[in-house]
Amino acid sequence: MADDTFANADEWGFETRAIRAGQPHDPVTGAVVTPLNLATTYAQEQVGTHRGFEYSRSQNPTRQALENNLASLEGAEYGFAFASGLAAEDNVLRLLEPTTHLVLGNDAYGGTFRLIDKIFGPTGLRWSATDLGDLNALEASIQPATTMVWLETPTNPLLAISDIAAIAEIAHKQGALVVVDNTFATPYLQQPLSLGADIVVHSTTKYAGGHSDVVGGFVATNDPAVAERIEFTQNASGAVPSPFDCWLLMRGLKTLAIRMDRQCANSRAIVELLDAHPRVTEVLYPGLESHRGHEVAAAQMSDFGAMVSFRTGDKDSALRVAESTQVFTLAESLGAVE
Ligand code: PLP
Repeated sequence: MADDTFANADEWGFETRAIRAGQPHDPVTGAVVTPLNLATTYAQEQVGTHRGFEYSRSQNPTRQALENNLASLEGAEYGFAFASGLAAEDNVLRLLEPTTHLVLGNDAYGGTFRLIDKIFGPTGLRWSATDLGDLNALEASIQPATTMVWLETPTNPLLAISDIAAIAEIAHKQGALVVVDNTFATPYLQQPLSLGADIVVHSTTKYAGGHSDVVGGFVATNDPAVAERIEFTQNASGAVPSPFDCWLLMRGLKTLAIRMDRQCANSRAIVELLDAHPRVTEVLYPGLESHRGHEVAAAQMSDFGAMVSFRTGDKDSALRVAESTQVFTLAESLGAVE
């Protein structure tokens, strides 16, 4: 019997989609949770005639459910799951012709920078690292050969903010694709595609998974030409996640909203403590009015996220706080800073 439970899925709120989008009741058993489908190969009625599944690197029902679910949360028509965040990024960077130019934020995640510089650089890709909080600096970095602008907002680790809509407007004048790494904000707090970005990437290892037991990555887009090429490289280069990782991620996403609410509240309390502490020299958190990107963050995010960075003045004192935070509370650890 056809399952029409999902006919009005477009009208569902975020939390309902997190629980149900892409996960219709199992047509064979009626199971309300997507089954873990471990098969690598699928029977064909005749050569080339199958039910949408042929070989699990190419398509897998558990992965497909995750892809539809997370795409729905990002407001995307297309979603692709990968074995890690960097595998997802690698597939997006393969969209670029080797001789073109990419602009990335000067505070990009170190692994992203390494991938661009050490893996794509030697193939001929050129790049400029720019302060993307400064739109004049972005305009100055764009060259005739620029085909992609890559940003994180908030960034890892300094929690810098950039204006997705303004950057998209500048990049699109040049015909460049805008990629947003939405790992720190998550789709619960920020949906870059609705602000003009072309592609969203994630390390789902972080908030999306939420339980420190799965490494994963994701690409979402509304551009059919981009989707076609990502789907091709996902299969052709084969960095797909296991069905069990997909299943764990779907389980994690079901509680994303409630976890983010609590983690954002916890972070506000931590920021209050840090901001008032005499041994903390600087707190980096977009929710603080003094943060350079506060207004942009307030406009494009529904909360300021749960990541907080702070400085204690020098490397030795920072290391002492980090080491003692493993066993003491943060307040006690700050006592370790002489
Ligand atoms: N993007 C950001 C913002 C990250 O913090 C990370 C990992 O820390 C990655 C991408 C890479 O993801 P993964 O570790 O899942 O490969």
